[in-house]
Amino acid sequence: MVNKMIYENILEALGHTPVIRLGKINSPENAEILVKFEGLNVGGSIKTRTAYNMICDAEERGLINKDTIIVEPTSGNQGIGLALVGAVKGYRTIIIMPDSVSEERRKLVRHYGAEVVLIHDAGNIGACIEECLQTALRMAAENPSVYVPQQFENPANPMAHRNHTALEILEQVDGPIHGFCSGIGTGGTITGIGEVLKSKNPDMVIWAVEPENAAILAGGTIGTHLQMGIGDGVIPDILNREIYDDIYIVSDEEALKTSRDLARLEGIMCGISSGTNVAAALKLAGKLGRGKTVVTVLPDTAERYFSTPLFENE
Ligand code: PMP
Repeated sequence: MVNKMIYENILEALGHTPVIRLGKINSPENAEILVKFEGLNVGGSIKTRTAYNMICDAEERGLINKDTIIVEPTSGNQGIGLALVGAVKGYRTIIIMPDSVSEERRKLVRHYGAEVVLIHDAGNIGACIEECLQTALRMAAENPSVYVPQQFENPANPMAHRNHTALEILEQVDGPIHGFCSGIGTGGTITGIGEVLKSKNPDMVIWAVEPENAAILAGGTIGTHLQMGIGDGVIPDILNREIYDDIYIVSDEEALKTSRDLARLEGIMCGISSGTNVAAALKLAGKLGRGKTVVTVLPDTAERYFSTPLFENE
């Protein structure tokens, strides 16, 4: 007998994260802001969705088998997601990450039983991510059992958001969505959610959000910044550059302050890029004004930032 209340494994509990109205951080003159809190997702971030979708897609296309070693270059959450999926499905998993990402991320990857290879970030995250990728590709060239999902160019990444995250938002939000904004790591989130929301309301406004020190879509240069998971210094293949109407730039200070405000005013313990997204959403909500609705995502939980300046005064 199947008990409908019991999941057979944790991956069956993926998704269906709550959407929350920001009541205190936002002004009543603004459009309302609704946030999809992915910090409450399985694995603590939005990236478990893409990890799961990329691995299921590779299985369906016969690209991997039980002897496959999954190797992925990532600045963090994708590695945690793949380590989790690898643990449940039984794949050996190796994550290659810059040594500048938070210590919590490395520990979480190892805690799921995956291996970590660290590449030194000498102050240019873009160059470091590229070196992580080259290391992964070398491993694949040397060992035919290695499969590299390549989140920056894998169509199964935005597909996870088209087929799941975006549809959940449409189910959860009653009435039209007038604005959406998101920071860009691989671009999977903004591409997948943006395409679906815009197909429902072509007049809506979508903002791509970039860290001040990595605003490359806006023509800026890449440096180090604290908004981990976005602003990796590359323009990803899977990013649909037609989907956003404008680019909004957020400083580290604004991202940190907004993330702290979310904890202190709204009780939402989220990461730094969540602060980035809400800082942009507040601006967009001010622009669109009362009576309109702005949606954004909070990609992960604050608990993976204890060792970072987000918690420096605690
Ligand atoms: N924020 C965080 C904390 C992330 O880990 C990521 C994923 N790199 C993003 C935002 C951006 O998501 P995407 O890769 O879909 O652009």
